[in-house]
This record gives sequence, C-alpha cells and structure tokens, in this order.
Amino acid sequence: MIRDIRRPYFRNLLLALTGVFAFGVYIGQPILLLLIAVSGYLAWQLFQQSRLIKWLEQGAKSEPPDSKGLWGMVFDHLYSEQRRRKKQVRHYQNVINRVQNSTEALRDGVILLDHHGALQWWNQSAADLLKLQPRDEGQLLINLVREPAFQKFYQNREVRESIRIDNPAFPDRTLDVSMTIYGKGERLLLIRDTTRMTQLEHMRQDFVANASHELKTPLTVLKGYLESILDFSDDLPAPLRRALGSMNGQTQRMENLVNDLLVLTRLDVEVRESVRQRIEVSTLLNSIADDARALSSERNHHISVRLDSDKDLQGDPSELRSAISNLVYNAVNYSPDGSDIELHWHESPQGGYISIRDNGIGIDPRHIPRLTERFYRVDPGRSSERGGTGLGLAIVKHILHHHQGRLDVASVPGRGSVFTCCLPAERLLPPANAPVTPDSAPDRRHKPA
Ligand code: ADP
Repeated sequence: MIRDIRRPYFRNLLLALTGVFAFGVYIGQPILLLLIAVSGYLAWQLFQQSRLIKWLEQGAKSEPPDSKGLWGMVFDHLYSEQRRRKKQVRHYQNVINRVQNSTEALRDGVILLDHHGALQWWNQSAADLLKLQPRDEGQLLINLVREPAFQKFYQNREVRESIRIDNPAFPDRTLDVSMTIYGKGERLLLIRDTTRMTQLEHMRQDFVANASHELKTPLTVLKGYLESILDFSDDLPAPLRRALGSMNGQTQRMENLVNDLLVLTRLDVEVRESVRQRIEVSTLLNSIADDARALSSERNHHISVRLDSDKDLQGDPSELRSAISNLVYNAVNYSPDGSDIELHWHESPQGGYISIRDNGIGIDPRHIPRLTERFYRVDPGRSSERGGTGLGLAIVKHILHHHQGRLDVASVPGRGSVFTCCLPAERLLPPANAPVTPDSAPDRRHKPA
C-alpha cells in the first residue's frame, strides 16, 4: 500500500518557503532568497522529470528510479503497477503455455487460421499429418488443401458436421476435418487421421456386397424350385402346402433383404453427387401412386397426389423413385385399410418438398431420431410381418444425401405421420414447357388461365 503524502508534502513545502522568506526578511534580502529557493526547487523537479522520461524511453522495463517526496510516491506507484502487470503477463503466459502444451500433446491436429484463412498456428500432430513446415505460416490453407469438397466445406460458414477428405500430403491416407468459426472470422480446424477407419468401412462394404451377391444365386434357385412346386400345390397335402407357402414367403423376404443390402452398399460406395436429369415431379408421383394403389389392392387406401408447385426436379430419376416409393409403401404398410395417403409436392424459397402423409399408426417421438439407422424398427414383429427389411429409410436417407437433401419426419402416435423429402432450391427447374419470356416464366401457376 502506498502512503498518500500529498497533504504533509505541501504543508512542509509551504513552511519551508515561509522560513526562507522570514530568513530573507531577517537579512534584508527576502525576494532574492525566495527566488533562489524556488529556482532550486524547480531544478530538482526538472531533474526528477528527466529521470522519469529517461526511464520511459528505456522501455520502462527496469525498476523505476528511486526518489523521495512526491516523486518518490509517483515512482512507487509506477513500480507497483509494473509488478502487477508483470504478474498478469506471467499468468497469461502460463495459461498460453499450458494450452499450447496440452494441444501439442493431442493426437488430433489443431490448426488456427486468421480471418483471411491464413495459417497462424498448428500443433505437432497437424504438422505431421499435413507435413506443415514453419515457412507455411501465413499461407492460405485452401492453397494447401485443394480438394473441391474441402473448398466447399471451408466456404460454408454454417457447417456443423465434419468432412472426410484424402490427405493432400499422403495420397493413400484419409483425414476427417471439423471446423469452428469464431471471433472475427478466425477458424479452428481439428484434423484426425481416419485411414484405418476408412479401410474398415471399405472392408465392411465389401463384405456386405460380396455376401449379398453370393446369397443371390442360391436364393434365386430356391425360389424357382419353390414356385414350381407351388404350381402343383393342389395335389399336395394341406400341411405340406402351408409349409411350402411359408417357405416361399420367407424366401421372398430374404430376397428383399439381399436386394436392399445391395442397393444400400451401392449408395454407400458412391460418394459422388447424383446425376442431374430433369424429372417431371407430377408424372413421377402419379406413377408411384398407381403402384401404391396396386400394392394396397383390397386394403383400399385412398391414395392421392397434390401438386402445389409446377417446378421440375434435377436428380437421378431411379434413385428418387426408389426413395419416394419406399416412403409411400411404408405409408400403405403402416396405415389401416381404407385410410387416406397423400403425396404432396410443394416449394418454398429454400427448396422443394415431397411429403408423404398418412393417417396410420404413427411413431413415438423417441424413435424418430433413429428411424434411418439400418435395421432399426419401431416394432420388429410388425415390420417383418409386413415384409419390411428395416433398411428402407436408410436407403431414403442415402438417396436424399446424394441430392444434397434430407428427410424430415413428423409423427403423432395413433394419428399418422408425414415423411418429407427436402431438396435444395438449386435442384428445382422451371417446367420444361414454360414460356421463357422473363416476365411470364417465374410464377406461371398464379396467373389467370
Ligand atoms: P421397414 O422395412 O421395417 O419398414 P424402414 O426403414 O422402411 O423399414 O422403416 C423403419 C421403421 O420405421 C419401420 O419398421 C416402422 O416401424 C417405422 N415406419 C416407417 N414408416 C412408417 C409410417 N409411415 N408409419 C409408421 N411407422 C413407420
């Protein structure tokens, strides 16, 4: 604590000057003595000021000069402020060192980019993973990682998920990159080597693809024989006929399963964006609705198509047909006989939506986040009974992902469900036969006939 000496200091100064003046009066030279005293005092002030300026000019790094009186108080203040600052800097330095040491120890790579995207700092793992050298500091990261998927990922400020890319420094290795944007647009990148995981995934995909292929031939033979025998089932005893009927049903289930597994493996392997063919949505939905009516047959569902947009879609017709059919067949399978099912095409500025609405059994909200997992079934017994494989929604999710879209599910148990395929606006096209004059093209639907 620094003692405030201003009051006694000024009192003493005044007393000293009065003393000098009195002595001056005593020797008959009051003004001269007062002048000498004030000049001495001023000289001392200037001397202390120059010590302070010199100390400041030297960077104020050493301890401030020592002095008495008011100047002593000023220097003491500066000294204690300097010690407080040093302590603070030491504390922050320790924090930075601890953060740096712990990030250095991380097995994952950490990279800091400034708001221009230039490399600012990285840990040892990042240097090893991407072969970064000290001279790379200040380089733009997008000049080092040129993969288009990464460039797109990098530009997307809303991005939440990570991306898997080929490692530009080691072509036979893969990396998982996640990104956080903070402050004034600086980026923090976490990178992890996923080569082993990618290899395991490929092994899994290969295994499922090979196993499904291998199962396909024996199944076709079995099914063929069973169908031939069932052609003569009238001549067979009833228990044998029932057994054969059940075998036929189970063989059909296995065939569905193998086919779905093959489709899923193909979709899994294809990382490319889906093809962009023009699809007339009304034709597609009407044709799927016809198939669904055939599937429903005596169950008599009322299947309707509602078109609230005249846009066409850009995509892979067979993939989209498969996705929508899966949703419509589920609607038929999980809705009571005679209930309504609607296929609805609509749009918003964000994109196009194909919704499949049913008044069926609905789904408890806790199951919804897991519905698109492979083999996830809300009620396994019910699903198998209806010939379900538990793979349909996984296929739908993959197909929509290929089209940069997503599946939304809304459902109320006992009331029904709405499954919506959301497709991005960039995949919408004005109808093929729309007049191309600028004022009539965009909103043809709302003009009077
Ligand atoms: P599955 O072949 O078993 O139908 P899916 O992946 O298509 O497999 O669907 C997963 C599960 O989601 C189904 O088992 C079913 O419980 C539930 N589900 C799907 N669609 C509907 C629907 N329209 N109404 C109620 N439940 C549904």
